[in-house]
Amino acid sequence: MAEVLVLAELTGDGEPTRGTLEALTAARVLGEPVAVLLGAAHPAADRLARYGAARVLVAGSADPAVDLAAHLVGPAVDVLARLVADRAPAAVVVPGSAAGREVAGRLAVRTGSGFLTDVVGFAPDGTATQLAPGGTTVVQARVTCGTPVHAWRAASLTPVPAPVATVVEQVLVEPSPAREARVLARVVERSAGRPALADAAVVVAVGRGVTGAAEFALVEQLADALGAAIGASRAAVDAGFCPPSCLVGQSGTRVAPRLYVAVGISGAAQHWSGVRSAQTVVAVNSDPDAPVFALADFGVVGDLATVVPELTAQVTARRG
Ligand SMILES: Cc1cc2nc3c(=O)[nH]c(=O)nc-3n(C[C@H](O)[C@H](O)[C@H](O)COP(=O)(O)OP(=O)(O)OC[C@H]3O[C@@H](n4cnc5c(N)ncnc54)[C@H](O)[C@@H]3O)c2cc1C
Repeated sequence: MAEVLVLAELTGDGEPTRGTLEALTAARVLGEPVAVLLGAAHPAADRLARYGAARVLVAGSADPAVDLAAHLVGPAVDVLARLVADRAPAAVVVPGSAAGREVAGRLAVRTGSGFLTDVVGFAPDGTATQLAPGGTTVVQARVTCGTPVHAWRAASLTPVPAPVATVVEQVLVEPSPAREARVLARVVERSAGRPALADAAVVVAVGRGVTGAAEFALVEQLADALGAAIGASRAAVDAGFCPPSCLVGQSGTRVAPRLYVAVGISGAAQHWSGVRSAQTVVAVNSDPDAPVFALADFGVVGDLATVVPELTAQVTARRG
């Protein structure tokens, strides 16, 4: 079976990201997934094998003084370009994080290949289904030149385990001199013990409707009663209530929770592009004509300062 290279991205804890597990799940349609990890051999290889990576290629530098994982996108492109030349895979699939999309674009240029982004599914003949920016248009497309390079759109499917016995191989690559950006430190962001946004089962998200610290505290209380991660619209991030890491949408994180509670959010397409995979959406908004009510499963028309504490009280009472 033809190989499909899947670039493995790791969290700060050294676990494969959800986007990586989604990419591995999706890549099985195209051929045999081969995970590509940068840096030293890693226990992540076991997790990658659980999701169908029949082979894990651990790529290091031919120069022992250089740690490929300590740089941004350049070395990942070097490694993948070399593997494309050596192994002639059927395709390359890269998790569609900001860094992943850049790797994919550069790789396509480097290898003279076609590149598809925002991919949400594959057919066995290599046809990819894409969601056009904003997530409103579905496109069927197929790369016709070079080795197809695909950037997977995060939160587009639930990763499905498919355990295989894996072979771990070391690959030595001479990185190009253009190792322009180097990672000096990594900080694992913890948000008051709340779950990570991308993987959370429940997300409570705030928008411009929240106008002060006291209202934001009410939303935090609801999030904590639900065991939820906090998300935010662009307007709430710009207002300084949440760090950019909370941004949900086209320019931020795409989430796939069981429950998404949108508080004071209008439902702009750029925000909703990150919410489409949520199973159930509840909207709280004071404007009965807000577009979000056409997108949500349940809506409460009212001032969030009144509705949110009532929701928190109801959740707390039911949870005992
Ligand atoms: C290229 C591009 C990319 C973008 N990417 C993103 C992205 O990734 N994510 C994102 O979120 N946005 C993104 N945006 C911005 C996006 O277009 C919207 O401007 C933004 O999502 C609006 O945020 P909001 O819903 O919080 O604010 P608004 O649209 O202003 O909505 C606020 C809502 O709060 C309600 N409200 C007000 N007071 C109360 C109250 N007391 N109680 C209850 N409800 C109340 C109002 O009725 C209103 O519906 C992008 C824009 C562009 C151009």
